[in-house]
Amino acid sequence: MEIIHVSAECYPVAKVGGLGDVVGALPKYQQLLGHVAKVVLPMYRTAYLYAHDWETVHKGRTHMGNWWFDYTVIKETTSELGFDLYLIDIYGLLDREGVYGYSDDTERFTAFQIAFVDWISQWNHRPSVVHVHDHQAALIPFIMQYSADYGHLKNVPTVLTIHNAQYQGWMGWDKNHYLPRYDAWKAGLLEWKNTINPLASAIRCAWKVTTVSPSYMEELRYAANGLEALFEYEKGKCSGILNGIDAQVWNPETDTYLAANFDHTTVASGKLANKKELCKRFRLDVAKPLFVFIGRFVGEKAADLLPTVVGDAFHYIGREMSFLILGSGNRAVESHLASLEGIVQEDYRAYIGYNEQLSHQMYAGADFLLMPSRVEPCGLNQMYALRYGTVPVVRDTGGLHDTVVDYADWQGFGIRFQDATVGEISHAIYRALELYGDERFPAIRERIMQIDHSWESSAEQYLALYPSH
Ligand code: ADP
Repeated sequence: MEIIHVSAECYPVAKVGGLGDVVGALPKYQQLLGHVAKVVLPMYRTAYLYAHDWETVHKGRTHMGNWWFDYTVIKETTSELGFDLYLIDIYGLLDREGVYGYSDDTERFTAFQIAFVDWISQWNHRPSVVHVHDHQAALIPFIMQYSADYGHLKNVPTVLTIHNAQYQGWMGWDKNHYLPRYDAWKAGLLEWKNTINPLASAIRCAWKVTTVSPSYMEELRYAANGLEALFEYEKGKCSGILNGIDAQVWNPETDTYLAANFDHTTVASGKLANKKELCKRFRLDVAKPLFVFIGRFVGEKAADLLPTVVGDAFHYIGREMSFLILGSGNRAVESHLASLEGIVQEDYRAYIGYNEQLSHQMYAGADFLLMPSRVEPCGLNQMYALRYGTVPVVRDTGGLHDTVVDYADWQGFGIRFQDATVGEISHAIYRALELYGDERFPAIRERIMQIDHSWESSAEQYLALYPSH
């Protein structure tokens, strides 16, 4: 099969969150299973672009509404990522450092998608499947099926994977003319609650829809930021496939970011060596159990609760643990977490920003990973934590439900709680401290490192789903 992935992120080219990790890994494993997988991304001006060699494979001209533009498709010459990587450049829109967050993101990603369809419409063969990820690529199934200009792509199967249904790419009907010509009576396929909703359109138009964990798929029928009824209606073609982790990138035995490499047989000494380095750098007491949080400061991750959680833990439980937080996002949460250092002084540090290397060091050096997420489609952090011998402390939702078993249950190893409230998180911390002092703790760390969340099985599930397979 020839599978074309279209996405806004792909690690290590451009990553903001889990979407990047998945699109950087899944195609690689599809290739290993004997298929041809390609990734198409906007040509942001990231470090990866400048550090690699590229060849131009296509130059085209098309339009978004009345605006005609030239686009260029380049390909990385060595395919070093394990698949062919293509970048689409559109002058004035995509030639920027950042991935998201610009006021013209609607125009940027709409033009990107139009250019993509325009490009593949000129191939002299048809791909087996076009696999689009999240709302930034979600207009593609509609355009391929219903645009008069691209009628010959109508029967190419499309698959949508939803990594996060909170963001849907809404745009007003005043932007309808951006889309390549289509029969006006098809407009209903784009519409959801009086706006053009790209994610909703792909849920209707794609041949199959997946989310990144089975539990999240279930939850979307009750909580999907307005799309609940649509998920209920389309449930027949929807399924959940748990993300894997890239076991080559995330391998404590070979990870070059770590102070010491280790495997499950050396988990105690290995983690201690990494913890020492981390504690030295952040002036934390290595003797205390270390809780870390890594993630975007947005409502879904519940990082806004952390200042109160830390304050309460110190107040009610005592100075028996330390906290290290890595992340960025909401400015108010950033400054709250940063200023907390001055208030609590000891046993707490926050690193505000994005730092891939530090994240690896934290997974390796921590004792516990906190994930109080309000919404968690899959969550990769908890799987990285497991692989690095760090016990996850998670809210029982979405992919966290599918990957973490509470240590009070049969064969359990982590800590789960029901609600994203300060009281429940504090209680979970208390239970984590109990586990830390329990004789089962060393064996649990050894065991979680051996849980297999690698991509092989998930990659097979995607292949089984593709229509013509
Ligand atoms: P989401 O995609 O919702 O952000 P995931 O758990 O699926 O959440 O993936 C998050 C990924 O982003 C993980 O690889 C995590 O380590 C990484 N990450 C998030 N914030 C940071 C940060 N500030 N620095 C380094 N890595 C981060």
